[in-house]
Formats: sequence, C-alpha cells, structure tokens
Amino acid sequence: MSGRSLPIELDYGYFETVQGYGQSTYGQSWVYRPARVDEIREVLQLAKQNGRRVCLRGSGRSYGDANYLEESITIDITRMDRILSWDRTTGILEAEAGVTIEDMWRHVLEDGYWPPVVTGTMYPCLGGALGMNVHGKNNYCRGTLGEHVLEIDVLNANGELKTLTPRDEEFFAIVSSAGLLGIITRVKIQMHAVNSGDLKVWAESADDWREQFELFEKFEHNSDYMVSWVDCFGRGAQAGRGLFHAAWYKETLDPKSLKEEKQDLPSLILGFFPKSMLWKILKKFCNRTGMRFVNWAKYVSGSTLGNNKMHDQSLVAFSFLLDYVPDWRRAYEPGGFIQYQTFVPKEHARRVFSRQVELQQEAKLESFLGVLKRHRPDNFLFSHAVDGYSFALDFKVTQKNRERLWKLAHQMNDLVLEAGGRFYLAKDSTLRPEDVAQWLGPEKMARYKALKSEWDPEGIFATAQSDRLGLTHRPR
Ligand SMILES: Cc1cc2nc3c(=O)[nH]c(=O)nc-3n(C[C@H](O)[C@H](O)[C@H](O)COP(=O)(O)OP(=O)(O)OC[C@H]3O[C@@H](n4cnc5c(N)ncnc54)[C@H](O)[C@@H]3O)c2cc1C
Repeated sequence: MSGRSLPIELDYGYFETVQGYGQSTYGQSWVYRPARVDEIREVLQLAKQNGRRVCLRGSGRSYGDANYLEESITIDITRMDRILSWDRTTGILEAEAGVTIEDMWRHVLEDGYWPPVVTGTMYPCLGGALGMNVHGKNNYCRGTLGEHVLEIDVLNANGELKTLTPRDEEFFAIVSSAGLLGIITRVKIQMHAVNSGDLKVWAESADDWREQFELFEKFEHNSDYMVSWVDCFGRGAQAGRGLFHAAWYKETLDPKSLKEEKQDLPSLILGFFPKSMLWKILKKFCNRTGMRFVNWAKYVSGSTLGNNKMHDQSLVAFSFLLDYVPDWRRAYEPGGFIQYQTFVPKEHARRVFSRQVELQQEAKLESFLGVLKRHRPDNFLFSHAVDGYSFALDFKVTQKNRERLWKLAHQMNDLVLEAGGRFYLAKDSTLRPEDVAQWLGPEKMARYKALKSEWDPEGIFATAQSDRLGLTHRPR
C-alpha cells in the first residue's frame, strides 16, 4: 500500500486493517485512539501535516463502509470512555463520546433508569450512535437517540470546540451526518425512568404480510416497544409470515430486578452449552437450505409454543437479543454479509416489502433474517426514519453472488425511492450517488455542502462510504 511510511509520531497510533461489522469490505489505515480532546487535536494536526484525510470511528458496529477509509488516519473514539457526571434525581448523564450503550445502562439501572433509545446490540458508543442517530424498537413513540440529547461538544476540522444544543440548527446536522462534519466528544443525555428491570412482553405469530401490519397497527398507540421477525423464505399464502413482539415497561416498583446482575446474559445455553461456541453451529446452517430450515423452525415454534403469550423479560434480554450469540457474524465468514434496511411510508410499506421479498426469491438470494419496525419522522439532516416501517435484511456475501446481490439491492432501492422511502447509512453498502441525491433531495444536499465548507473547509473528514456516495471526494 502506498504511503505506508507515514510517521507514527504519536504513541497511540497503529497501522491496521479496519472494516465494518459485516466484514464484507475493509481498508487499511493508521488508527489512533486518543483519550483526550487535546490528543484528538494532535491527530488532526498530524493528518494535515501528512496530507491525509480523517475517518471517525466508534465501536465499528455500522455494518458497511461508514467507519473506515483506506489510507486515511482513523480517529477511534473508544478510549474517550469516561462518564463525567450522573444525576439520579434528574436522570441526566454526561459522558465522553466513547462511552457505550452498555456502559450507560450499567451505570444508571440501579437508580431506576434506562437509556431512552437502544440498538439491537449494546456495544455502539455515543459518538458512533449519534453519528448515525440510531433508533430502537421504540422509534415510533420515542424517536431517535438524538432526540434525547441535551448538549454535545463537537470539534471541527480545525480543532475548535463548539457546544451545541437542540436550540442550534447545526445540532440536527452534526447528529446524523455519519462523521462527515465534526467530531462529537462529549454528550449530555436524558435517561428514561423505569420501575423495573423487566418488561412485559407479548408474542403473537403473523401468518402473512396482512397480519404483520395489522399487529403493528393494533399495538402502535399502546405499547413501549414493537418489533417483528419475518421469514423471507415464506411464499404464496405464507409470504410475510413471522413472529411479532410488543413490550411495556412495568408499573410496579421492583428494586431487585434493577440490579446489574439480574440483567447479565447467561454464558451457557440450556444450562450447559457455552454460547461462545454457538456461531460455529450457526455457520453450518449459514446457507439457503440451512436458513430455510431455521426460519421454518422459528415460525413453527413461534406459532405454536410461543404464540399469544405474555411473559416477563429483562430489559437486556429483550433489547440486545443479538448479543446472546457472541461473534455471530463469524457464521458468515469468509465473505461476510451486508445488512440492508430501508424505510417506507406506511401506505406503501406492505407493497414494497413484499415485492422486495419476491425479488429475493426470484434471484434465489433470500435474506437469512428479516426484521420489521415501526418509525416516526424526525428533523435530522440525514434522517432515515419516516412515518412508516423499516425492513432490515441480512445477506450473505460470497465471491460468486456479490454482483447479483448488488443488482438485487439496486432493484430494491428503486422500489423504495419510487415510494418516497429513505435509507440508513449505518446499514448501507449498496447505494449509488444518485440514490442518495434523490433520498436527501436538493435542499438537504445544499445544506450539507454549506455545512461541510463551514465545519470542514479542506474536506478532511471522509469515509469509504462517503466517497462511494459522492458526499466526499478522493483528492486527485
Ligand atoms: C448487531 C447490531 C444491531 C444493531 N441494531 C441497530 C438498531 O436496532 N438500530 C440502529 O439504529 N442501528 C443498529 N445497529 C447499527 C449501529 O447501532 C450503528 O451503526 C451505530 O452507528 C454504531 O455505532 P458505533 O459506535 O459502532 O459507530 P461506528 O460504526 O464506528 O461509526 C458510525 C458512524 O459514526 C461516525 N462517528 C464515529 N464516532 C464519531 C464521533 N465521535 N463524532 C461524530 N461521528 C462519529 C463514523 O464516522 C461513522 O460514520 C446495529 C448494529 C449491529 C452490529
């Protein structure tokens, strides 16, 4: 690789391979892990001296190419991991940007609080989560993570620190703009008060697409969380079948359930099998035949044993289901996988998502996992949410299917655009510049460009994704 001779003048930098969580693409760059704002400034200076661009990286949980850039200087924020203050009377937490969702819930739960919005994994950090403005299974009623933030500190490309609040228009651009405008270093955020460490959870199977959407409509005004799994192998009358869950915070005070140890996920499955080994079993099923069976088995068990049942589940077990299987992404090795999540207004969602599944089946490239969520719109610059639904899909990538898979994604993207839908950079690997221009529209694109020249006049903040999407440009 050219330029490898960049002097690592700072003792917290290494030359490394970096990639998104899906492991389907990667880059090599100089990765620095500053622990203080002054050290970030030093890295920015180093980048300028060496004519390198800067890629921001949190916990690396974005699936595609949003958190690395070949031959760049990567600023990995995860060593900025201090909780700066916690007020148990107001529920306001102040933390550095490397503090993770896990750090937050562990810190506040015993005092009767829970993060207002959490992702399907507890490992993203505040900087990365706000870079994408993540949502949870409560997006339809609580909005995105950024909607609960009271204040952020942000460094521009010249190393100047600014404090922004939701009263500043720029706040709504820095949060959501995928690390392309500034570096979030400190966050003040409102936690959500809870009485119990458990949720009441309702499970109900859906036999087809119609039932899926009816369940969301039935619970959208009277639940705290909703999510549904879809079997993408179901066709004909079984198309769209799956298992829906709604959940509620509990009203009765239950201090015991708020203890950290009540939340920890078990290290053994069925009492004897180490869950650290589970991905190896999953790998054996990680093909069309295996996954057709896994999806069928999940549907059958959900529509019989688990159907129409109310049960208690800990906040952690309900929220971070994917963390149950450590290293589950390794089941997709060697080619990795892409996650593909699109957002469609409610009046078009059923038509678009059912057609997306038909296209997958026609191409024999069914997603191994399908997840439906309900959303509401927000005011952030690169907002992905709509008054509608999202459908998240996982596609295995192999050398043989890569070209066909991207073609399929482009067909599915076209359906989303025609329906006035949106995309999400945290889950994107396949968009083209014209798709992004249409999704954001001329006004937002112009606003982004104006802010880019203000916050980052020399255009040093970039990612592999932003180059691919035409949001930044490789220097000639
Ligand atoms: C198993 C799993 C489940 C998930 N579930 C959900 C879900 O339910 N909902 C959801 O919304 N997402 C979900 N995601 C996606 C994930 O939450 C987002 O990609 C999130 O942005 C990851 O945070 P991170 O700390 O890993 O950031 P990274 O992926 O490292 O970076 C994310 C973006 O933020 C930028 N960035 C990093 N640090 C900063 C900073 N300090 N200042 C400004 N920008 C910065 C980066 O340049 C990048 O563009 C899931 C991911 C996984 C792997």
